[in-house]
Amino acid sequence: MLDPFEREVSYLRVSVTDRCDFRCVYCMAENMTFLPKRDVLSLEELERLCTIFVRQGVKKLRLTGGEPLVRRNIMSLIRGLGRLLDGGGLEELTVTTNGSQLPKLATELVDAGVKRINVSIDTLDPKKFETITRWGKLDQVIAGLDAADRAGLAVKINAVALKGVNADELATMLRWCGDRGYDMTIIEVMPMGDIGEQRVDQYLPLSMVRSRLAEEFTLTDIDYATGGPARYVKIEETGGRLGFITPMTHNFCESCNRVRLTCTGTLYMCLGQEDAADLREPLRASESDEPVIQAIHEAIQRKPKGHDFIIDRRGPVAATPRHMSVTGG
Ligand code: SAM
Ligand code: SF4
Repeated sequence: MLDPFEREVSYLRVSVTDRCDFRCVYCMAENMTFLPKRDVLSLEELERLCTIFVRQGVKKLRLTGGEPLVRRNIMSLIRGLGRLLDGGGLEELTVTTNGSQLPKLATELVDAGVKRINVSIDTLDPKKFETITRWGKLDQVIAGLDAADRAGLAVKINAVALKGVNADELATMLRWCGDRGYDMTIIEVMPMGDIGEQRVDQYLPLSMVRSRLAEEFTLTDIDYATGGPARYVKIEETGGRLGFITPMTHNFCESCNRVRLTCTGTLYMCLGQEDAADLREPLRASESDEPVIQAIHEAIQRKPKGHDFIIDRRGPVAATPRHMSVTGG
């Protein structure tokens, strides 16, 4: 699938639910209204839709949310998609998770064909963790990581850089990741959804984070790519890799290879733009896959050149009204 800018779309991120057992301050407001269940695709419908995407050339699938692993029966979907790995056209199946369900599910994920996961942790301080996630417990996530290690999953830690919250801890986290054998990615906060706070109060440019880390570590630029937008360096002192995701300070849209599907079957061609295509209607209208395939190809032809996120006191609180939990981070 080629878009109008000759970018090959081979990566689908699927938000399997907009619900979550945490309420991270940069992601959700404390009182969220979630999508009505009748609008949400069943797991069978999601599997059918993902399978169609794979047949159209998607090689990498990432399940996200909301918290993907809190959706009831999620393993049945993951096992179904895992079957596409064996000669079915899919090259990689991954999950982004807050880690809370890993004590229960890590082994099952491996059995289903998942080899790598991203786990989001913004601090190693249990009190701060509760403040950031509002409802999360660090202990439970660490137990999840222990289970992932035992199951043989490769782990990458995602941390959002938050001004005045975890800026002074990122070096410690990097060392901890090195000790546990994890790569790490630091993400700039993106202006998505009204969260009841000014984004500019959370926003910390990664250029500043990088210069601070460079005082303690030797960062060597490397070509490593995981199909995502992160730019990686090797940390000579730990041997681990560190990725920077910088939508605000460095626009990475020219190499964008992805589209995003929500749990209601809406396809977003860009995380930072509103244009979307409804795939639920053609999916439910016919047993034939043709109407969906046609809708997907039409949508890809509208993939925009890039996003236009701006964080500014003069600007709107949110550049896109959707929360990250809807489109899937
Ligand atoms: N619940 C899972 C988790 O936390 O990993 C998956 C969904 S979450 C929306 C995916 C990623 O998006 C997480 O790493 C989270 O930190 C990040 N995220 C959420 N809101 C964000 C925002 N406004 N800006 C930047 N990253 C955000
Ligand atoms: Fe939930 Fe992930 Fe959003 Fe936190 S970042 S509220 S864990 S979806």
